[in-house]
This record gives sequence, C-alpha cells and structure tokens, in this order.
Amino acid sequence: MSDYLHNSIEYLKGVGPQRAALLNKELGVFTYQDLLQHYPFRYEDRTKFYSIKEIVDEMPYVQLKGIIKKKELVGTGLKKRLTAYLEDGSGNVELVWFQGINWVNDKVKTGVEYVVFGKPTRFGSKFSIAHPEIDIAAATQTKSQNLRPVYPLTEKLKSKHIDNKVVSRLQEEVLKSVGDHIIETLPPKLLQKYALIYKREALFNIHFPKNHELLAKAQQRIKFEELFFLQLKLLRLKHVRKVSYKGQVFNDSTLLTDFYKNHLPFDLTDAQKRVIKEIYADMKSGKQMNRLLQGDVGSGKTIVGFICMLLAIGSGAQCALMAPTEILAQQHFTGLQRYAAKMNLSIDILTGSTKKSDRKAIHDKLLTGELKILVGTHALLEDVVQFKNLGLAVIDEQHRFGVAQRSKLWKKNEAVMPHVLVMTATPIPRTLAMTLYGDLDISTIDQLPAGRKPIKTVHRYDSHRLQVNQFLREQIALGRQVYVVYPLIEESEKLDLKHLMDGYESMARAFPDVALSIVHGQMKAADKEYEMQRFKKGETKIMVATTVIEVGVDVPNASVMVIENAERFGLSQLHQLRGRVGRGAEQSFCILMSNYKLSQDSKVRINTMVQTNNGFEIAETDLKLRGPGDLTGTQQSGVLDLSLADLSKDQILLQQAREAAISILDTDPELVKTENECIKTQIAVVKKSGLSWSKIS
Ligand code: ADP
Ligand code: MG
Repeated sequence: MSDYLHNSIEYLKGVGPQRAALLNKELGVFTYQDLLQHYPFRYEDRTKFYSIKEIVDEMPYVQLKGIIKKKELVGTGLKKRLTAYLEDGSGNVELVWFQGINWVNDKVKTGVEYVVFGKPTRFGSKFSIAHPEIDIAAATQTKSQNLRPVYPLTEKLKSKHIDNKVVSRLQEEVLKSVGDHIIETLPPKLLQKYALIYKREALFNIHFPKNHELLAKAQQRIKFEELFFLQLKLLRLKHVRKVSYKGQVFNDSTLLTDFYKNHLPFDLTDAQKRVIKEIYADMKSGKQMNRLLQGDVGSGKTIVGFICMLLAIGSGAQCALMAPTEILAQQHFTGLQRYAAKMNLSIDILTGSTKKSDRKAIHDKLLTGELKILVGTHALLEDVVQFKNLGLAVIDEQHRFGVAQRSKLWKKNEAVMPHVLVMTATPIPRTLAMTLYGDLDISTIDQLPAGRKPIKTVHRYDSHRLQVNQFLREQIALGRQVYVVYPLIEESEKLDLKHLMDGYESMARAFPDVALSIVHGQMKAADKEYEMQRFKKGETKIMVATTVIEVGVDVPNASVMVIENAERFGLSQLHQLRGRVGRGAEQSFCILMSNYKLSQDSKVRINTMVQTNNGFEIAETDLKLRGPGDLTGTQQSGVLDLSLADLSKDQILLQQAREAAISILDTDPELVKTENECIKTQIAVVKKSGLSWSKIS
C-alpha cells in the first residue's frame, strides 16, 4: 500500500496530537489506512423527516426540522444543563444537553432553522431529546447524503466530541486526497467472476454511500476481500505443512487384523469405517497428519481413535490421548484399558493428581518405549513428559484446547512430528469449520451406531415438577438411571452451588427410597470419581450434577436427562448434555425444565432442542443466535479477526471466497503470475502491518 495511506493520523486536517492519541488508544486507528478501515456498523436513513406531533412513545431515532425558539441554562454544578425548545408548526419538543454545555450553547442559535436527530423520551405529557445531533438546516441541504454512517465509537471519544460527524469528516479528508493511492488487491478475473466493485469505489461507498445499492456492493466487496485473504492464508498454511512436514509411515497392520478378528466388540458403522480409511491414508502417506474428526455425541469416536492407535503401535510408535478434564481422561483410560488389555498393550494415565512416584515410573516407561499408550490431561504437555517415539497424538474435545496446545504436542517428537487427530463432539457448521479448522483436514462421522433410538426431548415448566418426578419414578422402577443437571455460571459460583445443593435436597425428599449421587466442580477429584463410579455401577440411581458431566461421560444405563433452568444453557451445551443419554438400547428422554419467563432466544434454543437431535442442525441455529466468536471461544479469535464479514451471515460469500482462493492456489500456488501480483502485494502488506500471518499456526 502506498505511503500516503501510511501517514500518521496526527497529520490529517482536524486531528492533531491530542485527537490522534485518543484515536490510537480508543480505536486502534494510527494511520490513514486504519481510519479508512474503520467501517461503519450501520447507516441511518436520513431521507425521512417527522413532524413533532407525530412523535409517540417507543420511537427509535427521529429526524426533525424546526426553529429553536428559546434556550436556557438550568440548574447549577453537576445538575447544570442546557435546554432548547424546537418548534416546527405542529408542536414543540425539548432538547437537552448535560455535557459540553458551553460548547453547544455557543453553537446553537435561537431563530435559526435546524435539522435535529435523536431519540425522543417522554417526560409527562412532553417529549424530550437528550444530546441530539443538530445541524443548521441550510447546511444539510447542500450535502445530499441520505445514508449516514454510524461508526463504532467509545464513550470516551464521544465525551471529547469525536462523534460520527467528526469521523465522517475525517474520512472525507482522507478520501479527498487519496487519488490513486488505494491499490487494487484482487485480480480482474476475480472481480469479474464474482461481480465485485473496485476497492477504491468500495471504500468511498462504505463511508459515503450514494444509495442502498452501492452500499450493498461496497459491503460485499470488502467482506469478500476479508474472507478471501483469510482463506488464502489458511489454505497456504495447510499446503506448506503438507509439503514440508514429514510424518512417520505407519503401515504394519498385524495388530489391527488381530483386533478386528478377535476383539472388536461390535460392528463398526459405515461412517466409522470410512473415517478410519481416511485417517489410515494420512498415516501411510509420509506426511504429517493434522486431521479433525467430527462426529455427533455418541457417534463412536473413541474406538476410531483406538483403532488408529493400533496402526501406530503396530509400526513401533507410541500414542497419547489428551482430554480436557480429569473425569474424561479417567473415563477414556478405563475405556481404552479394556481394549488394550485384550491386545496386551501397556497403557497408563497421567493427570494433575497422579502421585509423584507413579509419575516417575511413567516417565521412565515412556522413555524406554515400553509404555504404548498414555492417556491424560494437560499434564501430558509438561516438558518432563518425553516419549521414546510419539507417533500419534489424539486430542479429545478440541474446543477446550487452543491451537498453541496442539503445536506443543507436535514438539513431543523432535525427530518427526507426531500425527495429530483432533476429535470434537461439537459439530461445527461447514462454513465455520472451513475457517476455524481451515488448516486441518476434516473427517466426519455422520451416522450413529445401529439400534439407537432417537432421544425424546420435551419442555416442561417448573410447575409440572410433580408429574416429572412421577415419570422419573417410573423410569427408575424400570431399572433406568437419571441425570439431573444444574447450570453453573462462573460469576456466581456460590449461588449456583447453593442452587445445586437445594436441588439435591429436594430430590432426596422426593425420592426417599432411591440412592442419589452428587458431583460438582468444587469436590476433590477423588470424591468426584468415587461418586461417578457409584453411579456407573448402578449403585445410585440419580446423579445430581453441574455441567462437569457435560462432555464425554458414558453411562449407557442412564436414559433420562433432566436439565434444570434449561434457559440458562447455550444450545451446544444442551446438546452435549443430552448426548449423555441415548447410549444404551433403551428409549431415552431429555426433559428441559424452565419457568414461564423466557427470552426470545431461550425459546428458540429450547424449541430447537425439542425439534431435532441432529448436532449439525443445532450448530447452525447456535451460530445464528450467538455469532461465531462465542461459539468457538476466545482461543480461536485470532482467526476470526474480521471487521466487516460475519461468518454466521455471510456463508455464501465465504463459500465463494474459499472457492476463489482454492482456484488461485491451484493454478498459481506461489503467486508468481502477473495477474496475481496484487494478491502477493497485499499479503506482504498484511504481514508487515502486524496482522500476523502466523498467529494461527
Ligand atoms: P463419542 O463419539 O461421543 O465420543 P463414544 O466413543 O463415547 O462416542 O461412543 C459412545 C458409545 O457407543 C460407547 O458406549 C461405545 O462403546 C458405543 N459404540 C461406538 N461405536 C459403536 C458401534 N459401531 N456399534 C455399537 N456401539 C458403538
Ligand atoms: Mg467422546
């Protein structure tokens, strides 16, 4: 990008050192270019004028035209305010300022016609507008800008009189002399294929849209560009990895054949077989595998992980499985131990609570290569944990781990990076997966094991508790077990715990002859484990718990999930919780409890749960409700640094941008063609400006 756009904002007419410092600090705007990329987040249509008598309660912003008849300073000290009365022939309305009073008092003159814009509020029989925007009517007529941009601004900026109008004026200032300094970043072919306008035109129209149509074009162009360069980055990263990162070749299938022939506990689903094939192909390829294994809760990812381990172990390597919590690690260990024992493979577990003496033994056995499978938590990542030859690292429930941790695992084998298989039970809509995990290959288990009955989900109000309890009693009499889950929100941990304890006590009263378990985050790991085991063995029939049981816990005989205060849970969390049942042969149920007061979003969430069991559909709805940032957690936010595009709304554009990036890289991977020079230049610019190209690697 040209030097002009790299000028410091300080030197722009109307800025100066003080305002520059504010813009730096509040908006991260340092240069002309930063300013141009500070896009409006909405536009106000200023074509319509209201007459004052049309003002009613609950109106959004209105635009009025009238004469200031009178103004006065009222009150003293902190209560001091400036009041002006605007009349338009149909009535009058009060305008009030509490801040910057002297400045406004100087500016606003009686007897002059003004255009006023603001939100009316009722005081008794009168309406009043606080801190309206106000312009001399004659001046606004010459400026025929009807779609006025509204910029993201902070309170601090507003209090220093840097408002939309000021930002607009600064944009105008930059654009006035920008001339040819805005360099096109997309090749003509792409512009043509996707009917995109030039960057220069887009920047003008995003700040000063001539009409709705041009605004839409401008937004589309800028969003496309953002998404295109993001996809390009991800695809290149993947490409680089594929070309340069070697992987061990695993192709000894003796162990595998033995397992398939003699120990496989059930027939694999076609989907499981397909993903195993995909993973094997990677592990035989000589390139390092980085693959995401997606599959709805209960689709049987664990055994897929184990079968892949067999190929690695059979070929002389070791394997690790990392889970996000101690309970989950323990459960994976117990599950895998069953299979490993049959195969005579040594397996162990390492977590935060592993005893020092046991640790030492594990470290030693890892180094000699005697230990084949190590299951654990983050504890696996510690530097003291060294393998003789780590060949495959499986990470369960990726959404709890960041990319940084993934790369820490790579370093556990200095000679050749281990293959990495990331398993997630949070299905992600395709478009988002393409972006978040754009650097991973994706395998999907889109089928549940045969014989599973879909879980029946209902919504019940708290007032129906007696009927619900009666239903639970019947299920328990049939030999089933029940989860009752309470929400846990970190800010109010104490309250939640009380809530949980109250719930436990009322369950104990309602079910005096039934054995209950309780598990929550503040219990010691050993106590939690003890209670979990009791429930697993069927010694207790009801498990009252917080969301600690959210992920992965597997008790096939538990067939009823009651979720208290269901309105307080997010959709993906509800789906995860529901996935704890429906694992055995019996008909399972999920009962969502709530009171009558539900927000619009809560209603949508609960209805979605009642209507579908499909994790992908649920993920789509979740994305629409929450937006992508929330869905994925802050750890991934580096990838989602999008200023205008919105992954939940711009899915078609994202698809096009990805398609475009693929076609460019297919025909010109090193971007050496003249027509693609603009892309290369832009990548260099982004790199230089610190929007780190490698942030996500
Ligand atoms: P998730 O994908 O949620 O991690 P799990 O691996 O925990 O699912 O599997 C859920 C349950 O289904 C386990 O009890 C597992 O033994 C069982 N399971 C897995 N695959 C099959 C299959 N092909 N047929 C029958 N049961 C299976
Ligand atoms: Mg699992």
